[in-house]
Amino acid sequence: MVTKDDVLKWLKHYADVIAEQKEYLTQLDAAIGDADHGINMDRGFTAVMAQLPSVEDKDIGTILKKVGMVLVSTVGGAGGPLYGTLFMRMGMAVGNKDALTPEDVLKMFEAALEGVKQRGKAELGDKTMVDALTPAVEAMRQALAEGADLATALDKAVAAAEEGMKATIPLVARKGRASYLGERSAGHQDPGATSTYLLFKSAAEVWNHADA
Ligand code: ADP
Ligand code: MG
Repeated sequence: MVTKDDVLKWLKHYADVIAEQKEYLTQLDAAIGDADHGINMDRGFTAVMAQLPSVEDKDIGTILKKVGMVLVSTVGGAGGPLYGTLFMRMGMAVGNKDALTPEDVLKMFEAALEGVKQRGKAELGDKTMVDALTPAVEAMRQALAEGADLATALDKAVAAAEEGMKATIPLVARKGRASYLGERSAGHQDPGATSTYLLFKSAAEVWNHADA
């Protein structure tokens, strides 16, 4: 099971990873956007860390919804509402639980993908975070259907997210600021797909013990 404590550890670890990768994410955004993705994500997760203590004694759904609301209120641009939606939908999907089965984790990520697609209207191949999220969710679903434990399913999700992230390089952007560049957006990795890959990688790193 993934306990509430595991969820809190994941959020803290992701906040640390984003802080470490802030420059890198911002450089990726400099090539095809406005050079702020790392700054945006770091500002958002610094605010999340400051606000987490106020909900730490609540259920997982309340914690994740709070993360989403903090991101929406502190991060502007496309990234804030999209990551805000991602976390709010995850919170709604898990509800008032204090521990998650592998199936619950899958439903949580499925809801995240659905929410991001609804909010941003991006499809697979538009060179956005959807290009990392979609294969990650698909790989996890397939692994669990084949009887894999959570740690294995998460490792497959990370590998698929990484592949999806790298596959954004040759694509021409059809959504977000990068789409303003048209053909010139090709040849660069999408920043949002990169931060989404890091989200799965962070989960795999802290939840690798939480199988069964
Ligand atoms: P902004 O583009 O407003 O500066 P960020 O730089 O924080 O916001 O985030 C940019 C990322 O947001 C892109 O790399 C892309 O992955 C993602 N993105 C932009 N528009 C969309 C969309 N409509 N649907 C899904 N993801 C999107
Ligand atoms: Mg930007």
